[in-house]
Amino acid sequence: MNIEKVKVLIIGSGPAGYTAAIYLGRANLAPVLYEGLQPGGQLTITTEIENFPGYPEGVSGWEMMSQLRVQAERFGTNVRAGIATKADLSCYPFKITIDDNKIIETEVLIIATGATAKYLGLPDEQKYAGSGVSACATCDGFFYKGLDVAVVGGGDTACEEAIYLSGLCNKVYMIVRRNELRASKVMRNRVETAKNIEVLWEHQTKGLFGEGVVQGAVLWKKKGTPEEEEVNIKIDGFFLAIGHQPNSEVFSEFIDTDSIGYIKTIPGSSKTNISGVFSCGDVQDPVYRQAVTAAGSGCMAAIDAERWLNEQVTL
Ligand code: NDP
Repeated sequence: MNIEKVKVLIIGSGPAGYTAAIYLGRANLAPVLYEGLQPGGQLTITTEIENFPGYPEGVSGWEMMSQLRVQAERFGTNVRAGIATKADLSCYPFKITIDDNKIIETEVLIIATGATAKYLGLPDEQKYAGSGVSACATCDGFFYKGLDVAVVGGGDTACEEAIYLSGLCNKVYMIVRRNELRASKVMRNRVETAKNIEVLWEHQTKGLFGEGVVQGAVLWKKKGTPEEEEVNIKIDGFFLAIGHQPNSEVFSEFIDTDSIGYIKTIPGSSKTNISGVFSCGDVQDPVYRQAVTAAGSGCMAAIDAERWLNEQVTL
């Protein structure tokens, strides 16, 4: 297999990966960055970003990621298409297999592979992607100001999204498949006391409808029981909040993760359990998951990596 040696390898091309690349490029370390499964990351599928500081008029996710790429390349980042399909972090330099056909041997590895929002798997989710279907209320909620929306899920994320949306929207339905919320007590209380949140207990989504954009959802009430019935609700936005899956699987044999798969970093740093391997962005962040926090953690990873390399020289 083709083997290439590099000093710094970044896997992932969201705001975390690109920010790490910009900093490492400016430190003259000429990083190699593989874009991964979704070039530009999750932001490329959001409509418009209005909460990233410095863009008073907002910016499309696609445009921001294109600009980040240009900025990273300007300082010497080698951006390549490709997916990390295997990792051996038991040896040094670390070995990362790309697309099952090339091995990169790297002195430093930065894992910025992001997380993927879970979807229900309905064809309508694809049909209305960016036209009423979203997996991020903080990103897209503003576009539904004064309108009616639904949030799917009964965990802390779903409650948080529903509460956030209740401050913007006319009415928020929560579509919950069981007759109780999985969320913590404090979040359950907030949902119960919000006047414009209606929980649809024991409901599941069958499909969405609307002319070009979402105008409503068809739900099953008590699916699979004798009382099963179909219910239509009129909504303009359909928000998924049934969990995220961090993209850490390729590294999980070596890197410590939590029970869901989020990479554990030493608090206040981007350091993982393996010296010389750093992580940033959503793959290590179950809490904030914002573009701006991902970019910030990318900066941390670059600084940690650069210092680590300097320490190796002086040892
Ligand atoms: P969870 O896994 O906790 O909850 C997922 C929810 O989605 C559950 O209600 C689940 O239903 C529902 N769900 C899953 N699949 C489907 C499906 N196919 N159809 C319908 N409903 C479905 O994920 P979260 O993202 O909410 O939370 C992840 C972790 O992050 C948790 O530990 C949470 O506590 C934490 N968190 C903490 C926050 C905070 O403290 N502020 C904020 C956000 C998250 P069911 O219950 O029936 O399985």
